Amino acid sequence: MRRIYLDHTATTPLDPRVMDAMRPCFSGMFGNASSIHSYGRESRELLERARGVIAGAVGAEPAEIFFTSGGTEADNLAVTGVMSAVRDRNGIVTSATEHHAVLEPCRHLAESGKEVSFLPVDALGSVDMDSLRRVVGERTALVSVMHANNETGTIAAIPAIAAIAHKAGALVHTDAVQSAGRIPVDVRELGVDLMTLSAHKMYGPKGIGVLFVKRGTPLEPLLRGGGQERGRRPGTENVPLAVGFAEAVRLSSLEREEESPRLRTLRDSLEERIRALFPAVIVNGDPGARLPHILNVSFDALEYPLEGDMLVMNMDLEGIAVTSGSACTSGSLEPSHVILAMGRDEKTAKATLRFSFGRGNTMDDVAAVAGTLNIVIGRMLKKHAS
Ligand code: PLP
Repeated sequence: MRRIYLDHTATTPLDPRVMDAMRPCFSGMFGNASSIHSYGRESRELLERARGVIAGAVGAEPAEIFFTSGGTEADNLAVTGVMSAVRDRNGIVTSATEHHAVLEPCRHLAESGKEVSFLPVDALGSVDMDSLRRVVGERTALVSVMHANNETGTIAAIPAIAAIAHKAGALVHTDAVQSAGRIPVDVRELGVDLMTLSAHKMYGPKGIGVLFVKRGTPLEPLLRGGGQERGRRPGTENVPLAVGFAEAVRLSSLEREEESPRLRTLRDSLEERIRALFPAVIVNGDPGARLPHILNVSFDALEYPLEGDMLVMNMDLEGIAVTSGSACTSGSLEPSHVILAMGRDEKTAKATLRFSFGRGNTMDDVAAVAGTLNIVIGRMLKKHAS
C-alpha cells in the first residue's frame, strides 16, 4: 500500500542532504568542542560555523544563539529563565493557544506564586490585542506568544505584540518552531528578545533546538554544569546535530521561496476539495495569516457526528497519516485546547483533523487524500446511523 505522510507539523523526515552533512561528525570528527587539542578545535569550528549559519538565517548575531535539546527545552528556558532572572517584576503574559512547552512552565510558575495571564484568542485564533493592552503593565516581566500556531497555522502579529510589551518594559519571547523555514523569520523585524527554533520541524534531526537570546537579556540557566554555551546551557555540545540543524536551516532558506507557494497550492486544493465534499466543514485558522502548509478542519458535530481519533485511525488503515490535534495531545482523547480556545464546542473540537504538507507531497496525494476521506467518512456516518 502506498503511504502518504501529511503530518509535517508533528515532525519532518530527515533530509538526506542533512544526513550527508552530519555523517563526518559521527566518525572521524568526534572531538569534544570544549577540548583545546586539535580534535576539540575541529569540532568547535564546526559548532561555531553552524551557529553562524543559524544566526544569519534569522537576523541574529552568532553570540545570541544558544543550542538546546529541542524546542521544548528552549521554550522552558525562555519562560523559566527570564522569570528567575528578572527579580523586580512578577508577571508573565502568554496566550491560551500556546504549545504545551510554554503553557506547562507557565502553569508551574503560577503554582510557585508568579502572576500568569493566558490571553484569549478570537475565532480565527488571533490573540486579543485589547486584552493584551489591558493585562501588560509595569509588573509584567515577559510576554510569550507563538509566531505561528502548530495546530491551525494562524500567524500572530508579533511586531505589534512586541511593541505593546516593550512599551510596558516587558521582554518578549516567541516560539517560531512552526514558522521557521515556511515564512521569513527575522528576530529584529519581529522585535523579539527571545525566540525558539527546533530542527526536526524543518527536515533536521530530532533532539536539537535553539534559543535566540538578544544581547543583554537577563536569563538564568535551567541546568548547572560545565559552563558550555556561555553558561546558559551547560552540557557537552552536540556538534553532529548542530551541524545537521544548520544544514536544514540553510536548505530551507534556499528553497523556501519556491517550496512555500507549492505547499500553499497543495493545501488550498485539498481545502477546496474538502469544502466541496462536506459543505458544513469549518476551516480553522486565519485565512489572511496562515502558514502555507497547514489545513485544520472541524466537522460540525450536528452535521457530522465523528470522532477525530477514529477518523485518524481509519485514515491510517488506508495508509494516510494525519492527526486530530497536536502530536502531544493526540492519543489522550482530550479535545484540542487550541480549537476550544477559538470558541468551538467540545464535540466539534473532537471532530477535528489537521493535514500538514511537506517536501514529499504532490497533487496526486491531494486527490488520494480527498477521495479516501470521502470514503472513510461515508463509512463512519453509515455505521453511526445503523
Ligand atoms: N513548539 C511548537 C510550536 C511545537 O510544535 C513543538 C513540537 O511539537 C515544540 C515547541 C516542541 O519542540 P521539540 O519537539 O523540539 O521539543
